[in-house]
Amino acid sequence: MDIRVRYAPSPTGLQHIGGVRTALFNYLFARAQGGSFIIRLEDTDRSRFAQEYVQNLFDTLNWLGISWDEGPDKGGAFAPYVQSERFELYRKHALELVSKGGAYYCFCDEERLSAMRKAQDDSKTGVTGYDRHCRSLSEDQTKAYLAEGRPYVIRLKIPLDEVTSFTDKLLGPIEWKNSDVNPDPVLLKSDGFPTYHLANVVDDHYMKISHVMRAQEWIPSTPLHVIMYNAFGWEHPEYCHLPMVMGQDGHKLSKRHGDTSVNEFRDSGYLPDALLNYVGMLGASYQDGRDIYSLKDMEGLFSIDKLNKAPAVFDYKKLEWFNGQYIRQRADAELVQLILPFASHANLFGPAQAEPDAAQLDLLLKSMTLIKERISFIKDAPPIAAYLFSDPVMPAAQEFIPKKLEQARTRELLSLVSEILPDLISLPEEEAEALIRSKAEAWGAKMGDVMMPLRVALTGSKVSPPLLGSLRLLGLETARRRVGMALAVLRT
Ligand code: GLU
Ligand code: ZN
Repeated sequence: MDIRVRYAPSPTGLQHIGGVRTALFNYLFARAQGGSFIIRLEDTDRSRFAQEYVQNLFDTLNWLGISWDEGPDKGGAFAPYVQSERFELYRKHALELVSKGGAYYCFCDEERLSAMRKAQDDSKTGVTGYDRHCRSLSEDQTKAYLAEGRPYVIRLKIPLDEVTSFTDKLLGPIEWKNSDVNPDPVLLKSDGFPTYHLANVVDDHYMKISHVMRAQEWIPSTPLHVIMYNAFGWEHPEYCHLPMVMGQDGHKLSKRHGDTSVNEFRDSGYLPDALLNYVGMLGASYQDGRDIYSLKDMEGLFSIDKLNKAPAVFDYKKLEWFNGQYIRQRADAELVQLILPFASHANLFGPAQAEPDAAQLDLLLKSMTLIKERISFIKDAPPIAAYLFSDPVMPAAQEFIPKKLEQARTRELLSLVSEILPDLISLPEEEAEALIRSKAEAWGAKMGDVMMPLRVALTGSKVSPPLLGSLRLLGLETARRRVGMALAVLRT
């Protein structure tokens, strides 16, 4: 059997984590099996359609590095891959299903349907859905209505008193009593447009989709689809319903939990491979005790038996950890390229200076060893590195003073250490550290009590990237100027 899977989003919103997870698993399955991965646009809901969302779909997958073999932009043997360009096919098949006895014309107008709904509400029996009023229309009656030109929809004739079952590749056998299935859903709307069910089934059939992998929220639609395949006399594809993606509170992941659209993750400086790695583990476990997987790794490892049945919990902290890991794996020069737009935005190179000059670019590159370990997001780099590019605002005297030390003594120690700045800059790091240690001892002070005021003077903060490395990047002139500013504060 040729393995053919598809990602079939409706372009009615931005691509979000759940959708990307579905796309990724389909992609991985295709790659692992040597099959084909297809993109199909399910744009039957024209009222919520926007071209921007189509673009966003392609941009998102391209950014992540998920490629496809057939699709709207690529074409393929089963083109077109856009449902709005296939309306004739759906119409033809709705009519075919009517002639096969699997569907019927319904002429109920909105007035009748709302009266029906109201009666259902009032009865408080919990009965909902279409009451199958037109299912028993005689052939003659139907013909007469059609001849009259009455508007109609075509509904699926759900077999009564039967059970519909399918075996989900992940969840095992699933059975639905037909009495629990949505009663006779519309397949073709009165404007001639297909509904999701019709277009989805017809396309999966004609595009020779072998496996339908989609989120578990689609399970209630699956018996309808199986009934349609049976009515057409077609074989249905294999089904594999993917575990849901939840927020930490156990509710379906949504805006309430934080960023969910891939654009937002991208704009906050997540790296595509970090996001892919994390999303690839939402509902799958590849190997024990291993977290870091490239897309290629996952392509080699993916299989349905590595999927979990239980819902996956989206953990923003864990994703942040992954992002930090991938940042540390990046070459310094590459990181700089990623940081530059954020740096311009944060005015790192000076007010109104979008581009760094050569010296600034060099400084940014050299600063990578200092800050790489300390950021989980690309956008965190400019604020952390800011003290290297311009003098920090000196904090109040209090900030410089180590515990149990007086202001005068702090000033004295800072002034003493400022005299050895040239040595601290020129000596190799370990020797420089040894020098501070021995000097501190000679001055009758703890090493930390010497380091802390110097750190605040050079960086403007008690917490900073490594001090000696920073000092070396700042250079003697800048270091002296800042120590001078700090001493002035400490004299007040
Ligand atoms: N168009 C549906 C969606 O928006 C496709 C569901 C399916 O994969 O069948 O997700
Ligand atoms: Zn009707």
